[in-house]
Amino acid sequence: MSKRDFYDVLGVSRSASADEIKKAYRKLAIKYHPDKNPGDKEAEENFKEAAEAYDVLSNTEKKQRYDQFGHAGMGGGGGYGGGGFSMDDIFSQFGDIFGDGDVFGSFFGGGGGRGGSRRSVGSNIRIKLKLTLSEMKAGVEKKVKYRRMVEADGVKYGTCKQCNGQGSVRRVTNTFLGQMATSSPCPVCNGLGKMVESKPKDANEQGLISQEVETSIRIPGGVAEGMQLSMNGKGNAGPGGGSAGDLIVLIEGIEHEDLTRDGNNVLYNLWLSFPQAALGDSVEVPTLEGKVRIKIDAGTQAGKVLRLKGKGFPEINGYGTGDQLVVVNVFVPTKLNSEEKAMMEKFLNAENFKPNDKEKSFFDKMKDFFS
Ligand code: ZN
Repeated sequence: MSKRDFYDVLGVSRSASADEIKKAYRKLAIKYHPDKNPGDKEAEENFKEAAEAYDVLSNTEKKQRYDQFGHAGMGGGGGYGGGGFSMDDIFSQFGDIFGDGDVFGSFFGGGGGRGGSRRSVGSNIRIKLKLTLSEMKAGVEKKVKYRRMVEADGVKYGTCKQCNGQGSVRRVTNTFLGQMATSSPCPVCNGLGKMVESKPKDANEQGLISQEVETSIRIPGGVAEGMQLSMNGKGNAGPGGGSAGDLIVLIEGIEHEDLTRDGNNVLYNLWLSFPQAALGDSVEVPTLEGKVRIKIDAGTQAGKVLRLKGKGFPEINGYGTGDQLVVVNVFVPTKLNSEEKAMMEKFLNAENFKPNDKEKSFFDKMKDFFS
C-alpha cells in the first residue's frame, strides 16, 4: 500500500477539481511511462503509485473515504468487491484516460487480468556500431549481426497454476477497519497468466532461445559519437508471445588520420613551409569527400583559418551543414646547413622580415572569425 499522500503523489491540492486531477495523472503517467524509462524501477514504482492515487481521487465515494480516513480507509468494504486495489483496475483506467488502453497495456510485465492475455515486452538489446567520419557525414546503411532471444519453435503454453491464469496474486491482511487485499503480479508467471508447458530442450524457462540475427541499420547523415538510435521491435522477444524490446545502437567513432570533428565542423591542420607561406602556393587538402586543391595567398600567416564551405557535417535535426576549417601552420626549419644558415642571416635585419603592426593585428581579426 502506498505510504505517500495521494494528493502529494499527483501534485494537486485537496481542493483540486476532477479535471485537474485527471490532467495531473495524465502528465505523470506519460512522464513515468516505461517506454521512456526502460528498466527504471523507480519510474515503474512512480507510475504505479500515480495510478493508485488517481484510482482513488477520481472516484467520488473513494475520495470521500480517503479524505476522512486516509490510506486506512481504502481497505474496508466496497471498492473492488470487498478487496483493495488490483492491477486489473489500473489497466481498466487507461481506456478513459488515454483513449487507447493498448498503449499502456504493455506495462506491468503483462498482468494476467480478465482475458488472461496481457502482453509482455521483451528487453532491449544494446550494441555498439563504429563509423568513420565519412560515414557519419554522408549517412550509411550498415548490416549488423547480434544475438537476440526469440520464441523457440514448438513451445506450448498452459494456464499458470499459481494464479489460475489471472496473472496477479492477492494477499489479504486484517486491519482494524476490516480486511485489506493487495494485488501484485504473479511471481511464477510474471503476470502472464500462462506458463510454458512444453518446450524444446535448448529453450529457456520462458520458451526463448538465443539466435544470431542480421539486420540492416540506416544511419542518417550527421550522427555523432555517443548518439543512440533505437530500432523498435528488434530487441529480445517478449515472453509468451509479447512484443519485442528495442535494439539500441550506440554510435562510436573511428579516428581519421588527418581530420578531427568539432561539432558539425571538420578541423584540419595544414603545415606550410616558410617559403610556401611567403610566396603563396596551391596545395592539396584532405576532406571527408576526398582531396581538394586550395590556393595559398602570398604572405599567409601561421594561425590563419581557411574555411571550406559545406565540407562539414549536416545538421541531423535540421537544415545547414558545417564547414571544414583549415588551420595554417608555418614550419620553422629546425636544422640548417651552413649555406641555408648564411641565407637566413641575410634576412635577419631585413625590414620586410620583421613583424609589423598590420600582421600583428591579424590575430585580433582571427578572434572575430571564430565568434
Ligand atoms: Zn501466474
